[in-house]
Amino acid sequence: MSTLVTGIAELVTNDASRGEGALGVVPDAALVIADGAVGWLGPAREAPAADRMLDVKGRAVLPGFVDSHAHLVFGGDRAVEFEARMAGRRYDGGGIASTVDATRAASDDQLRARLRALVAEMRAQGTTTVEVKSGYGLTIDDEARALRLAREVTDETTFLGAHVVPAEFAGRRDDYVELVTGPMLAACAPYASWVDVFCEPASPHAFDGDASRAVLEAGRRAGLGLRVHGNQLAAGPGVRLAVELGAASVDHCTHLVDADVDALAGGTTVATLLPGVEFSTRSPYPDARRLLAAGVTVALATDCNPGSSFTSSMPFCIAMAVREMGMTPSEAVWGATAGGAAALRRADIGHLGVGARADLTVLDAPSYRHLAYRPGVPLARALDV
Ligand SMILES: [Zn+2]
Repeated sequence: MSTLVTGIAELVTNDASRGEGALGVVPDAALVIADGAVGWLGPAREAPAADRMLDVKGRAVLPGFVDSHAHLVFGGDRAVEFEARMAGRRYDGGGIASTVDATRAASDDQLRARLRALVAEMRAQGTTTVEVKSGYGLTIDDEARALRLAREVTDETTFLGAHVVPAEFAGRRDDYVELVTGPMLAACAPYASWVDVFCEPASPHAFDGDASRAVLEAGRRAGLGLRVHGNQLAAGPGVRLAVELGAASVDHCTHLVDADVDALAGGTTVATLLPGVEFSTRSPYPDARRLLAAGVTVALATDCNPGSSFTSSMPFCIAMAVREMGMTPSEAVWGATAGGAAALRRADIGHLGVGARADLTVLDAPSYRHLAYRPGVPLARALDV
């Protein structure tokens, strides 16, 4: 069964050889979907026949958003903490402990219901691929449970046992790293594709460079790809460690020194920026222009989590990237699609070339520019073909 999608005012392909600019924009376009993949694309007047037609009536069509950084398995929420922060309290990652308590206390069904509701919320806003991390269980059983549940909704699952040092290990960080790199990793690796660590020596709750290296190297030995939370609260070793170890992505990148930018420019690690965090913690945004000027691959993601960024909206992140981080609408849309795919090392998503997965997002607007131009308006949704 093939489907011809017509009435596309503007098709974003992310293939510069197929259209205008880095987004490879084709005006007045059509697209043929067959067997879940793009079979043909081009100007509508050249479109071949197909078994059925779907007319999107003058809307823009983009590759589905790839949200490469999200924490969706948790209990409770932290709305009261958010309110206190807006009244002046600083964010240091300490509030994660309350989510750990609520997550441990929740049943599988409660966690699954929340997870599925968030994935549905994302899809309703145009996200077709989401990465999901553990990190609110912090025991062998609770971390394995989080990843087992995450695997029900995505293949992009990440073991984040090294999110924070849990309360029962206070003052015994080395013992906790031993647990994470030993039996916890062994229990979690069957359900995980990636390992991640909150590398933030400035936080009393997170991990320094040596501990982060130990976590990442153990994950790699277990066959997992590498991701890093780095340089969120202060400059530190996270970014350079990620590049040195060939991590797919280092996320946050808010506080960088020149050596970090140079390392990213010379490596294969994507810099994933998470402006929802700076918005929700009232912090200075990362310098996207500095990274782009150096030739670094920049992705955008939500970091959807109950503490520092409880948004599931990639369009909101695009709008912030443009308004607050100096990215052009084109750069921001690329970062939310092709950039996210690069951060997950995926060639089949994040673009709409022939053979790509038929993950389409449609806008109730004629151009991708409206994503930033009309902030907060629900324009985007994943298209069911
Ligand atoms: Zn995160």
